Amino acid sequence: MSAFHREKVLSVRHWTDTLFSFTATRNSGFRFLNGQFAMIGLEVDGRPLMRAYSMASANHEDELEFFSIKVADGPLTSRLQQIKQGDTILVGRKATGTLISDNLIPGKRLLLLSTGTGLAPFASLIKDPDVYERFESIVLVHGCRQVSELAYGEQLVEKLQEDELFGQLLTDKLSYYPTVTREPFRNRGRITDLITSEQLFNDIGQPPLDIENDRIMMCGSPAMLEELRQMFEASGFVEGSNSEPGHFVIEKAFVER
Ligand SMILES: Cc1cc2nc3c(=O)[nH]c(=O)nc-3n(C[C@H](O)[C@H](O)[C@H](O)COP(=O)(O)OP(=O)(O)OC[C@H]3O[C@@H](n4cnc5c(N)ncnc54)[C@H](O)[C@@H]3O)c2cc1C
Repeated sequence: MSAFHREKVLSVRHWTDTLFSFTATRNSGFRFLNGQFAMIGLEVDGRPLMRAYSMASANHEDELEFFSIKVADGPLTSRLQQIKQGDTILVGRKATGTLISDNLIPGKRLLLLSTGTGLAPFASLIKDPDVYERFESIVLVHGCRQVSELAYGEQLVEKLQEDELFGQLLTDKLSYYPTVTREPFRNRGRITDLITSEQLFNDIGQPPLDIENDRIMMCGSPAMLEELRQMFEASGFVEGSNSEPGHFVIEKAFVER
């Protein structure tokens, strides 16, 4: 049995010169928890070329969705960015990852902190009814350099607001906070600064960070994650894992090579 399912690309959308998303068929045997990632890729010269990708679709959806970077000289994404409807991609049979609700001890507010394609696992999680059951409120923060890089997240939230099931849940519980660092925009600044200055909480009209109530998931650049980890640990927050739940969990959006 091959380690991969062969799936058909159903749609591709290019958001910027560096970002695209695509949907693909999903093998009925491919199971995952919302927030997890799998190895996906292409067959190149008869061999699989695979990279880790978070599922941006939720596990109740029939199709798979991914939100991807385009690295100009990247072995996979220099090719993957060319895919078209009807092409074949490979999807590893096993999903894994730490950004799952069970890895957090119960709390009242869930902060989902992301930069760039680190939004992908949270795109899956904000489509999970169980997350809305577990938490009284959810704050989705997406940081990018430029406004155009926010488009995938903005459309995702807009679509969910119009959804029959999720519309009301989002209105009642979700605060979406896009922010940029390099251009004028209604929200500006780095996530670490927005939390330490309490600007984020002032802007959404909610109380500041509080270890009793807040649980955190974060996914982004390794540098941003390290800064956030140190910041939360200094306030007494403890990292959770698949073996022991904690106040926060971390997944790298990519690895520096
Ligand atoms: C747990 C995990 C989940 C991931 N999920 C996603 C995902 O959902 N979407 C996605 O696009 N990528 C994701 N990645 C990154 C992905 O595995 C690849 O690195 C990426 O697709 C580029 O592949 P490549 O072969 O073209 O270049 P690589 O040789 O893999 O990467 C080359 C360089 O490009 C930069 N880079 C790679 N990926 C990114 C990125 N996403 N954002 C910014 N810079 C990057 C890094 O500096 C890296 O050193 C994830 C990585 C990990 C570890």
